[in-house]
Amino acid sequence: MSEALLEMESPTTDEVANGVTEETSVAGGSVVDADALERGDLLAHDGVPAALISMRDIWRTYEMGAEKLHALRGVSFDVQRGEYLAIIGPSGSGKSTLMNLIGCLDTPSQGRYWINSKLVSDMEDDELARIRNQEIGFVFQTFNLLARATALHNVELPLIYAGVSAAERHERAQKALSNVELSDRMTHRPNELSGGQRQRVAIARALVNNPSILLADEPTGALDTKTSYEIMELFERLHEMGNTIILVTHEHDIAARAHRIIHIRDGQIEKDERTR
Ligand code: ADP
Ligand code: MG
Repeated sequence: MSEALLEMESPTTDEVANGVTEETSVAGGSVVDADALERGDLLAHDGVPAALISMRDIWRTYEMGAEKLHALRGVSFDVQRGEYLAIIGPSGSGKSTLMNLIGCLDTPSQGRYWINSKLVSDMEDDELARIRNQEIGFVFQTFNLLARATALHNVELPLIYAGVSAAERHERAQKALSNVELSDRMTHRPNELSGGQRQRVAIARALVNNPSILLADEPTGALDTKTSYEIMELFERLHEMGNTIILVTHEHDIAARAHRIIHIRDGQIEKDERTR
């Protein structure tokens, strides 16, 4: 496949606004020509596997004045649907930079990145926001819950943004909280919950939209050891339920709970190992 075709543009902002990509973003749904090329056909010819995530020679360079800092230097890997992956590396190795790219919060300086066979590395901000809402559920070290909202309302928030009706919102948020065993805490506010319970609310919120990928950046970083293990048991259960999980950590015993570990150092993959 020629370089010219590989460089083909993503749908325009107008197409997004008109909902052209709305339908095509549904896996297996009908496609318009441009997207057909960009996704399946092009990928098949280019030999890129139709993985849930494919990164090819990804670089992320931060420019500070005349200085250039290469936080990622040519990272390539695939993640299949249903995998449970930990990314581990020392502080400053590029983990959060990589996480922000996977989560479509940032774009690479160089290289190509596909989610669900959609080329996201060249997308504009509004398209990235759409992909982020549909495909990614985020969990952060410090939970990032709304302090004045109940657990139920916190979990309902993504559905409000997605325009889901109040009745359905309520039902889905209740179910998500029940999946993390918080049915009896739905009307509690964050300051009435333990750290572990707060993180479970955050996990319920991340999953309520049925995202393709659950992304967690140091999810146990603010928790004591016992609570950390409870959260890791929850991840294990969510993985068994079919969720694709990618978590970032600098702790080996946390990474060891995943089924695959990518070791990153100085912005490069040092080792990619399957652990079970
Ligand atoms: P980790 O999450 O593994 O600790 P990061 O991805 O946060 O590592 O950072 C990787 C490197 O990139 C570090 O040297 C860090 O200082 C640098 N870095 C991260 N974010 C920025 C930024 N926004 N601007 C400039 N340098 C950054
Ligand atoms: Mg980090």
